[in-house]
Amino acid sequence: MEKTTTDMTPRAWVGCLACYNEGRLVGDWFDAACADEVTLADVHGAHSRADLHDELWVFDHENIPVRGDLDPLTAAAWGRVYTEVGPEYWPALCAWVESGDYVAEGDTDLPSISDFKERYQGHWDTLAEYAEQLADYIGLLADVPEEIARYFDWSAWTRDIAFDYSTYDDPEGGVFVFRVL
Ligand SMILES: [Zn+2]
Repeated sequence: MEKTTTDMTPRAWVGCLACYNEGRLVGDWFDAACADEVTLADVHGAHSRADLHDELWVFDHENIPVRGDLDPLTAAAWGRVYTEVGPEYWPALCAWVESGDYVAEGDTDLPSISDFKERYQGHWDTLAEYAEQLADYIGLLADVPEEIARYFDWSAWTRDIAFDYSTYDDPEGGVFVFRVL
């Protein structure tokens, strides 16, 4: 069950539960979005043993921000979240979910995409960089003469901002910034 791709697409290793319980790994990698459409024949090939081997399970996955095995329906639901959010936002969404401090959809563990979009403020090198852009955006120093503005206490401003925002590290560098609502 080696990783097969370097892209961000959620993938699921769907296998036969009965084979697994007998100590054999019979299965394959699929796009997570299709995990609920995989059939026993897909993983068993021609000699399907559908009589006793009638349940599929996701024993491994990649690019899905949860630990452990999954049922195929849940893996497919994650695949659909990815399709809806898109590869550009997927790393941020995963960091949000992995923080544990995210808004779930209904009584599932799946993230609420609308809540994600409401909170996510983009990828920045540091929170201080975001704070500077924010000051620009809201015109914080717009009416302040230049010779005074240069004495503005950026670190105090960033410290204040930190109460209203959460940052999660991007494994590739920088931080994902989220508003706290
Ligand atoms: Zn089997």
